[in-house]
Amino acid sequence: MDDRELLRHSAHIFLPEMGIEGVERLRRARVLIVGLGGLGSAVALYLARSGILELVLADADLVSLSNLPRQILYADRQVGLPKTEAAGATLASLGYPGARLVTERLFGTRLAEEVDRVDLVCDASDNFATRFAVNEACVKAQIPLVSAAVIRMAGQLLVMDPKEAAAGCYRCLYPEIEEEAERCSERGVLGPVAGALATLQAAEAIKVIAGLPTPLARDLWVFDAKEMESRRIRRRRDPACPICGALPSP
Ligand SMILES: [Zn+2]
Repeated sequence: MDDRELLRHSAHIFLPEMGIEGVERLRRARVLIVGLGGLGSAVALYLARSGILELVLADADLVSLSNLPRQILYADRQVGLPKTEAAGATLASLGYPGARLVTERLFGTRLAEEVDRVDLVCDASDNFATRFAVNEACVKAQIPLVSAAVIRMAGQLLVMDPKEAAAGCYRCLYPEIEEEAERCSERGVLGPVAGALATLQAAEAIKVIAGLPTPLARDLWVFDAKEMESRRIRRRRDPACPICGALPSP
């Protein structure tokens, strides 16, 4: 890092837990963000600013007017554009030209290819089918996953770290596949609550990349903005989990 970059990242460098080594790790990291909605918008902004030089942004949707209250990457004039394109343009205008854009719904081998190329995945999608697919790809590739979800005025956050196999994976939490996936757009969401979960998702991603421990590698964190309550719930691997249950015992 030159003097300008040292100055830019000085607040992180001064953190004893991070130091210059943590910032260097961020600069070397490759991160895939799946979903560029309310969560992905804020995650992308924070991770781009954190010094991560290789961000991959994946989303197949177009920016719509009803997205704007919470999807803070986008401007009114970008309504109708692919979210990836709009996000890339916004980040470039902020001095981050380097995002790689994947304008497709990632599933199957394409998802596996993209997961294989990165060091960490942030799942910022809005539906169970994508979350299950991303989780499965991360378990198979043994890549850390930071997964956030938000609905109405509540949210949840967890880290799936291959080094914490006893905590299982995202799929262990949902033995039954939920038929009725709830989406923000259909059920409502308070914009800043998505932002709150997203900024903490970005913080967890930074911690994992920088090598800081996090209790969310073992726990699920749930947050209720209506009552302003949060709690951590210990996760345990489900031996019958179709995704991680067949892995060697931890
Ligand atoms: Zn599992």
